[in-house]
Amino acid sequence: MSEGMQVVDEKLDFDPDALREKYRAERDKRLRAEGNEQYQEVVGDFSNYIDDPYIDEVIEREPIVDEMDIIVVGGGFGGLITGARFRELGFDRVRIIEKGSNFGGTWYWNRYPGAACDTESYIYLPLCEELNFVPKEKYTHAPEILQHSQNIGEHYDLYRDACFQTEVTGMEWDSGDNRWTVRTNRDDEVRAKFVIMSNGPLNRPKLPGLPGINDYQGHTFHTSRWDYEYTGGGPEGGLENLADKRVGIIGTGATAVQCIPHLGRAAKELFVFQRTPSSVDVRANRPTDPNWAQGLEEGWQRNRMENFNTLTSGGIVEEDLVQDGWTEIIRNLISMANFRGKDTDWSKVPYLMEIADFKKMNQIRTRVDSIVKDPKTAEALKPWYRQFCKRPCFHDEYLPTFNRENVHLVDTEGKGVEAITEKGIVANGKEFAVDCIIFATGFEVGTEYTRRAGYDVTGKDGIKLSEKWADGIRTLHGFHTRGFPNLFVMSNSQAGFTTNFPHAMDEAARHMGYIIKKCADENITTIEPTQEAEDDWVDEIVSLSRLNENFQAECTPGYYNNEGQPNPKSVQNGAYGKGSNPYFKKMKEWRDEGNLPGLEIS
Ligand code: NDP
Repeated sequence: MSEGMQVVDEKLDFDPDALREKYRAERDKRLRAEGNEQYQEVVGDFSNYIDDPYIDEVIEREPIVDEMDIIVVGGGFGGLITGARFRELGFDRVRIIEKGSNFGGTWYWNRYPGAACDTESYIYLPLCEELNFVPKEKYTHAPEILQHSQNIGEHYDLYRDACFQTEVTGMEWDSGDNRWTVRTNRDDEVRAKFVIMSNGPLNRPKLPGLPGINDYQGHTFHTSRWDYEYTGGGPEGGLENLADKRVGIIGTGATAVQCIPHLGRAAKELFVFQRTPSSVDVRANRPTDPNWAQGLEEGWQRNRMENFNTLTSGGIVEEDLVQDGWTEIIRNLISMANFRGKDTDWSKVPYLMEIADFKKMNQIRTRVDSIVKDPKTAEALKPWYRQFCKRPCFHDEYLPTFNRENVHLVDTEGKGVEAITEKGIVANGKEFAVDCIIFATGFEVGTEYTRRAGYDVTGKDGIKLSEKWADGIRTLHGFHTRGFPNLFVMSNSQAGFTTNFPHAMDEAARHMGYIIKKCADENITTIEPTQEAEDDWVDEIVSLSRLNENFQAECTPGYYNNEGQPNPKSVQNGAYGKGSNPYFKKMKEWRDEGNLPGLEIS
């Protein structure tokens, strides 16, 4: 151990080796041989779990057969930001195709009580300056985000050509006239020179693969399809119909953390079935100060986004503008390591990161003890893993909910729920009879891209995307894939990942906009990555992911590490390993070269 590390150790009031051991033991309890196969896909008998409960009116229309410049699949933030940036570049014929009844994506579907953004709204809500808008709260609630999504649609006139309640069923490339034909469940056949796939990273709800789900005789739904008709109330709470109900909720991730306080207040009795506790840090939400909002100067949102992203990527900035739980761990690290720019000894950084993480998680565990009165419940609510093994949560009412007499934590010690019966839920060998089961069990990650998208793509010479990517995603820069000209993929895979996902989407939208504009200006008919450029990019992704290999392997299972089974395919499907800022910089340098290197042009 180097001298610097001993200096750090002298000041520690905990034993890092003991913590490492405890983390491993807790992880081992949760490892399952089935890995990602443990979940039930929402198809067939389970497809009712993804029906749209928010439709006011079913849209009746004739099939559309026409041609656009650009088709964007998905009307969430990705589709909206892309549509907006394309409009700014002068593209008129842009059609967004969306399964929901309106724009909003994640925020269209996730209307559960208490839903709110966990990333500061001033950096999370896209295009605030363009719309001259400042959100009402530091962490604004879902209805305002949904409204803002729709305002973006209005502002950029994206409603004009949009198709809602419409699902893409397939698309194919026609080499004869160099166009894509996109087909839908409404029998549409829309042609376009360019297609953007912005299906969303967490768009397919998943269920635990438990025996008996369909035997259950009570009421049930997934959090992303909240049934307000059954519960009463709305996104702000209420839920008055639950006053005489025994409710069971399975899962304690970021979604559950936000809705459990509302369920606890409303239900006659609430049973929370926990497999792994979330880390729940301080939220400290507050209304926006109108004076601050008025004083914001041009460029404020971009500056703030970049400031946050630099800090959360481990970079150094003079001032932390956002100052929240996400940036705190990095602030700790900086003060601990006494970074001095060039003088920093980078070899010590992984160790210092781990120590800063232990400190942060100790604080989080102490917070549980300070809030939850029953010592056994408090103990069960403590997370034993590194903070970024799972999605960190921030909430001030979640932990106090477990002090309510009507709320019962059913901790399964990492084993999870065992079965569903006609009457309720079996856990720890015991049946809990409930009137309603709510699945807060998250979304598919790590399954085939085309399965999550809900359609396959047929490229040149009949090649299918599902076949090409069967052993792992292959792209150039995360956007292009050989054999599929003029097709852009918008996702985290092989691209830059940041906690503030809309930031990455905006970078992607600008990048795609640059390429498509260049094609228009220079009469380029098709672009497609060369084999060499694609292979090199995949190799770079795989070799960089090794930087992260040990961290992922030591983590408790979850969707960040392929349920505890990181493998060559999951590694290949991961994000650019040096982080989002170096990725954005690389893309900018690529654009600055001006001649689309690595793309074959016709
Ligand atoms: P998650 O995948 O994070 O959580 C699913 C939960 O279900 C976990 O607690 C999991 O336990 C549990 N679970 C799965 N199977 C079983 C079982 N058999 N028995 C008991 N428990 C089980 O889904 P969420 O919907 O909570 O969140 C998904 C993502 O959405 C977040 O990670 C975040 O990125 C995003 N999100 C963002 C929000 C925001 O910004 N405001 C709010 C909410 C979500 P285990 O941990 O052991 O696997």
